[in-house]
Amino acid sequence: MINITRLLFPEKFEFPGDSLRYSMPAASGCPVVVWHITGRCNLFCRHCYAASSSSDVSEMPAGEAAEFLRALSVVRPPALILSGGEPLCHENFHCYLRQAAELGLNVVISTNGSMIDERSASMISGFASYAGISLDGPEKLHDEFRGVSGAFKASVRAINALVSSGCRTGLRVTLARPAAERLDETLEVLESLPVSRVCFYHFIPSGRGALDVSLMPEAVDERAALRRITEWVWSVGSRVYGKYFPEVLTVGDASDSVAVYEYMTGRGGIGGDTLGLMSAASGRMCGAGILSVRWDGTVFPNQFIWTEPLGNWRDLPDIAARVRRDMAPAAECSSCVWKTRRICASRMSGFGRCSYRLSGGIVS
Ligand code: SF4
Repeated sequence: MINITRLLFPEKFEFPGDSLRYSMPAASGCPVVVWHITGRCNLFCRHCYAASSSSDVSEMPAGEAAEFLRALSVVRPPALILSGGEPLCHENFHCYLRQAAELGLNVVISTNGSMIDERSASMISGFASYAGISLDGPEKLHDEFRGVSGAFKASVRAINALVSSGCRTGLRVTLARPAAERLDETLEVLESLPVSRVCFYHFIPSGRGALDVSLMPEAVDERAALRRITEWVWSVGSRVYGKYFPEVLTVGDASDSVAVYEYMTGRGGIGGDTLGLMSAASGRMCGAGILSVRWDGTVFPNQFIWTEPLGNWRDLPDIAARVRRDMAPAAECSSCVWKTRRICASRMSGFGRCSYRLSGGIVS
């Protein structure tokens, strides 16, 4: 995860997750855990990494789920992300949320927002420290993408209800080709919403998303989107200097920090604080900084890699230790000038993508 706002305004903004992002994870200890409590979903998104649908899937029984949460409260991950599928499709969602919070876990939720009303928002705000709502762009694009008319309006309703109930709320925007192509419209929508965080995910072809090659943007367009996002953060952040501005992050491509570096050097210079953050970034830490637990209890390196099971949740601390021990730099990164200069924090082989290299950037 790269925090564009923090890199552009290091002296002005500091955010809760930055201590995880700009330091190496401890040699021991539990990473952030994403718990996909169900594979069911009420929408049918084209890019769904979990290939969710309305049919039943094999989910942990409630007794095992309680045991899992108790075990997590012992190993204490920095955050537990309740995700899916759509987590609110699970009958026990609110119960698990409450149990996790009462066990002292830092719980956040990742949802499409379409099932959150005022009552639910108030419950969520009582137990979750953050709610991330997915949004794919302007209304028509979002509804087409999600396969359900009215999905956009439902998400906006959820955002307003969560914010009104005092929950820290943000957006997850996947940069699949249609969203990347209509980025300016999406940025306009973002500016109109009362969110405190926006997370741009590079499109990773996984689950249902892997079946539709037309969703993958050209690497050169991804770089253009990154430049535009960086420019947007700079422009809006400069306008509101000294006041509130949402945290803007990107996920899935370590070379995004190169886009920030180039943008800042193009503007006349980059400060020591930004360079310090870049060199301290932990980079791609799938499996070491984050682990996914599927609805049936199987552990995977992250939300997008469902082909590499690592074991069962009961072995979570051992799995994290094993992944850390086996971590090796990606071969294609080892000779890259951005890595040598510690601008890009790619540290791990096998996961993530480098749109900088793919778009023909000179990297060695
Ligand atoms: S090739 Fe270079 S720019 Fe790309 S991810 Fe690796 S270190 Fe970063």
